[in-house]
Amino acid sequence: MPYQFSDEGLAIHAEVRRFLDEYIYPNEQRYYAELEEVGPDGYPSVLDELKAEAMLRGLWNLFLPDLAPDHLGVRLSNLDYAPVSELLGRISFASEVLNCAAPDTGNMEILNLYGSGTVKAQWLEPLLAGEIRSAFSMTEPDVASSDATNIGLSIERDGRYYVLNGRKWFSSGARAERCKVLIVMGKSNPTASRHLQQSMIVVPKDTPGVSVGLDPHVFGYADRGGHPEIIYHDVRVPADHLLGEEGSGFAISQARLGPGRIHHCMRSIGVAERALEAGARLVNDVSGGLADPQMPRLVAATRVPYVVMHWRGHSHSMDSRAVYQDVVAEVSEELCRRVEVVTQAGVDPAMIVLDPGLGFAKRAEHNWALLTHLHEVSSLGGRARPFPVLIGASRKRFLGRLLAAPDGTPRPFAGSDDATVSVTALAAAAGAWCARVHQVPGNADAVRVAEAWRQAVRAGTRPAGEAQAGETETGETQTGERP
Ligand SMILES: Cc1cc2nc3c(=O)[nH]c(=O)nc-3n(C[C@H](O)[C@H](O)[C@H](O)COP(=O)(O)OP(=O)(O)OC[C@H]3O[C@@H](n4cnc5c(N)ncnc54)[C@H](O)[C@@H]3O)c2cc1C
Repeated sequence: MPYQFSDEGLAIHAEVRRFLDEYIYPNEQRYYAELEEVGPDGYPSVLDELKAEAMLRGLWNLFLPDLAPDHLGVRLSNLDYAPVSELLGRISFASEVLNCAAPDTGNMEILNLYGSGTVKAQWLEPLLAGEIRSAFSMTEPDVASSDATNIGLSIERDGRYYVLNGRKWFSSGARAERCKVLIVMGKSNPTASRHLQQSMIVVPKDTPGVSVGLDPHVFGYADRGGHPEIIYHDVRVPADHLLGEEGSGFAISQARLGPGRIHHCMRSIGVAERALEAGARLVNDVSGGLADPQMPRLVAATRVPYVVMHWRGHSHSMDSRAVYQDVVAEVSEELCRRVEVVTQAGVDPAMIVLDPGLGFAKRAEHNWALLTHLHEVSSLGGRARPFPVLIGASRKRFLGRLLAAPDGTPRPFAGSDDATVSVTALAAAAGAWCARVHQVPGNADAVRVAEAWRQAVRAGTRPAGEAQAGETETGETQTGERP
């Protein structure tokens, strides 16, 4: 779905990317070394240095569209902030450096919208300034808390105070030494209608009666600040610490969770992208960089081989795009343009592999023409140094048609594996660098045979069974030297 980001959003995104490059990545090792020293509840001092730098550059409190004008922050819309949180998700502490870390983000949101003047002065101000951290206490061990109407902690009015009794867990970050305040959800009126029984209230962490209990790990890991149990025993807080009206807790929880889910999901995407980069050995981009214009930049940074495939759009419109006067020349020209774009994005030409995209906006006659003119595709119409070519050989529709039953019924995909092996062998003999297939062993054998044949032709003859230089023994279908 095409999203329309604002100019300001795009500019901030670019600034955040620069900030990560200049300040965050170079300090990753230092952060983890300091964390090791101070422990999971401590505060690595590098964070304060980086926060000062982020504030100086105006990269601060980016997530609050409704922030009052007198507060420091950028007020991006949720839409503009989403790709920023994707970037921040790449490094565990980056969000905190820009004062955009959960659960403070959601907590600041609701303090900003529903807090009394006292609460804002005491807790929102230092949170917005990045001086303290906070926790959100909703989930309880005794009830199914994914449905917030089940929450049982009691919040009872007693004169100028509310008194809290109950038990929470998974209050993320509550163990951290900088965590000074908790937002607690409970029931203030158990007899009201189902969604009006709950309230939310601000509880300073050092209030008598608040204690931290066991700290459940997540997948065996102890996160910074933990996700601990918090016991609230006769905890008294001033009545003006209630957020909004009595009975508005459920509605506030929904207001908080909406943007919070977007932030979490986008950060998770950032984590996944970084994990992919860390593990990627080759990027096979079947859109040739068209579907995701960021892809070539990412590949350039990871310095892995990049397969640029000829692609004219998604499968639903592929058949109508299979129109060519001279398929070999046109595919080469389009690949040439894609190569220019990706090299301008920083991809090293020596790492580029071409894929003419058999079957992608191609009819049978187009596929055959490309297969029989691999050298022209490889040299993109005359380059001195040809690019390696990858052939997507697996179970192509044109093979199914070629091997159709006498009544014209095409061979089903799964029955085309032998034909794929033939295509692989012939492509390897014609100098293809690699074939993309489903059944690797048979195709790897085909590549070995094709390679042996080629060498025998070159040498005039070849002793049977003797491995020769350049022959793969690993079962990989690679046949060439570059990249
Ligand atoms: C890393 C981490 C950090 C967290 N941080 C916080 C935090 O800061 N603050 C906080 O308050 N909470 C936090 N949580 C808790 C989280 O919000 C809850 O775990 C979540 O809301 C689910 O609640 P639950 O654990 O009680 O599971 P349950 O509600 O018991 O749900 C368990 C399963 O049962 C299903 N289920 C529940 N009720 C029904 C039903 N009636 N019918 C059918 N299926 C049902 C659910 O869909 C789910 O699949 C955190 C959790 C994790 C893992």
